[in-house]
Amino acid sequence: MALTGLEIYKQLPKKNCGECGVPTCLAFAMALASGKAALDTCPYVTAAAKEALDSASAPPIKAIKFGKDSVLGDENVLFRHDKTFYHPTTLLIRVSDALSDADVEAKVQEINGLEFDRVGLHYSIDGVAVVHESGDASRFEKVAGMVAAGTDKSLLLLSSDPAALKAALVPLAARKPLVGEATAENYEAMVNLAKENSVPVILKADGLDALNDLAEKAQALGYKEFVLDPGSRKPVETLANLTHLRRLAIKKKFRPFGYPVVAYTSNPEPLDEIMEASVYVAKYASAIVLNTSTKAHILPLMTLRQNLYTDPQKPIQVEPKLHTVGDVNENSPFYITTNFSLTYYSVEGEVEATKIPSYILPIDTDGTSVLTAYAAGKFEPEKIAQAMEASGIADKVKHRNIIIPGYVAVISGKLGELTGWKVVVGPRESSGIISFAKSQLG
Ligand code: SF4
Repeated sequence: MALTGLEIYKQLPKKNCGECGVPTCLAFAMALASGKAALDTCPYVTAAAKEALDSASAPPIKAIKFGKDSVLGDENVLFRHDKTFYHPTTLLIRVSDALSDADVEAKVQEINGLEFDRVGLHYSIDGVAVVHESGDASRFEKVAGMVAAGTDKSLLLLSSDPAALKAALVPLAARKPLVGEATAENYEAMVNLAKENSVPVILKADGLDALNDLAEKAQALGYKEFVLDPGSRKPVETLANLTHLRRLAIKKKFRPFGYPVVAYTSNPEPLDEIMEASVYVAKYASAIVLNTSTKAHILPLMTLRQNLYTDPQKPIQVEPKLHTVGDVNENSPFYITTNFSLTYYSVEGEVEATKIPSYILPIDTDGTSVLTAYAAGKFEPEKIAQAMEASGIADKVKHRNIIIPGYVAVISGKLGELTGWKVVVGPRESSGIISFAKSQLG
């Protein structure tokens, strides 16, 4: 159980020197108790106190790393607006060893093709879960080897048979797969196998009480690289379990549940499955194993994940430099917008659709949209004039026309005065750019 602020305070040096970033040892103890400070920021903590305080200073949910670059857990808040979420839910596509060789290869190819670019970011699926359903240990080993040879993505090897898992895992241990499932029946063999190969292992039990027992027994084996599976496969139960696990880990610092959690989708219809997975992305799966590998299904899930796992205090931004759309020339139109990614890429997409090669200059507004930036004084004529000067646009086009967003028509007079260019008021919304271009630039 977590220590209180006063219990932590008793172990601190009581110098009140402020070197930890807060003025007193008591304030530091309170920050430590609420997970808002790290013990190593106090340089004067004794070794004995450090040992006693280890549980208070450990993150509420342990970071578990596996595969290529997958990191699960290490989250500190229940709600994104409290601070931020750090490690996007790892998405794995399920490949059964009961499939034929040809189907396994086709599935792996399809998974490798799940790559997208959106608002300047590149998305790809994180990994593949090889599931032992054939009942044949040598088949599981073979399919695990085929999948590993066909992709460099992170691997999850899933079998309840320790001997089958060992045969598949040992040749692939260097890929550091996540493995499972350790249950009440097989946990000693499973946890020891994971420990010998330095890979994390899934602990699976039916319900939270049974999971608590299993986690305590597994920890007693001297290993702590765990991912939890509360066993539920119905969406409502899974959501309840995920929520209880996260609350107990964050609010109560309940150590047996201080590990990331994996969820498995159960809906056979792909669109229902994506809705189910969306619930688990929002609350609070660290990893999800999915069946569908169709691009049109996966993209919305990745978009939702991306929206949740951005820092709410740092909007996604594009570089505030002169961008080109198409094969530009000295007659190309010149648009101004802001460097908020969603705004910029909405404008860029519509400008591209006009089929008129164009320049776009996103002004550095700290990633805010047009009206927000204008209201905050970040989209002022002086700033735009400076950005135009720095971009060298005057040397690239022979005309002297600037197209500005319709919402900030009010700046056109001052901007024209400062730059000597003709300011053309464009549409308010990016969706109006095509008809604007047809009527004004065609
Ligand atoms: Fe106290 Fe250590 Fe912080 Fe100094 S650095 S105020 S001794 S907790």
